[in-house]
Amino acid sequence: MVKFELKSVGCDERGLYYEESERIIIYLSNHEDLEDVYKTITHELIHHCIHKADMTMDEDQEERLIYCFQWAEEYI
Ligand SMILES: [Zn+2]
Repeated sequence: MVKFELKSVGCDERGLYYEESERIIIYLSNHEDLEDVYKTITHELIHHCIHKADMTMDEDQEERLIYCFQWAEEYI
């Protein structure tokens, strides 16, 4: 099961996913609003799903795939 941590400050990133511990950290101060936070949570959860599915791809491919997932409605 993935673990969540919400932090108010502490990093330049919006969110991070650590495969080894299956942990997501969301840095709240790097977001514009709540909807922005939800998008980052979804982004990091997709990283977790890719990890659990044992898909083989490099970091760039994974980021591109997540980007396409999150903008899919705009493409339709
Ligand atoms: Zn990412």
